[in-house]
Amino acid sequence: MTGMLGQIKDSIQDARGGKLIFIAHCLLNQNACVRGLASQPAVIRPLLDRLLEHQVGIHQMTCPEVSYLGSMRWGQIKAQYGSPMFRRHCRQIAQMVCDHIQTYRDTGHRVIGIVLRDGSPTCGLRCAAVSADDDQVWGGMVWNASPRQRFGATPGVFSEELQAEIGAREGFSVRLLALPEVPEAGSFETALEEIEQALEADSTPA
Ligand code: SF4
Repeated sequence: MTGMLGQIKDSIQDARGGKLIFIAHCLLNQNACVRGLASQPAVIRPLLDRLLEHQVGIHQMTCPEVSYLGSMRWGQIKAQYGSPMFRRHCRQIAQMVCDHIQTYRDTGHRVIGIVLRDGSPTCGLRCAAVSADDDQVWGGMVWNASPRQRFGATPGVFSEELQAEIGAREGFSVRLLALPEVPEAGSFETALEEIEQALEADSTPA
């Protein structure tokens, strides 16, 4: 390529593939999980392997729970995370996520989607931890409590705020996907296959 325009074009070429995906924090850092829920030593390896095979950049979203309650938190249900304060916290993260997606798109990158975590009261997409018993009172001294949870067909608090933020932006949409945290929250293999299909659908260069 010759001339000034050619020099400018050459100067902005680099090795990037131009594709990226946004994923829940704990998919790349199992240490963020509530104790008892980490299923792998470090990362969810089958997902990471597929993302690397497809040469997709990975944006690790902030963990809403760790960034609000820290690493010593108890497992909770969706209703316990439903306070206006936690929702505001989630909405702020959701805004930041959407801003990042927007700026990558504005500069010619392709965002494949956002991978959430089914079963989580916060990041669940298709299901989230809810009370197993509608009469159960939640709260109080945890050492006196023996509350029970189940997985209800409802998004978690962060996923709800994320969907609200996406809906509030004119002309803005993004594919939402999820991997289950535990087997009771859905089939890992089926969810992984869905992500694989999204990756293949976006397999042409950006
Ligand atoms: S599912 Fe969401 S809130 Fe729970 S550990 Fe993962 S990123 Fe954090």
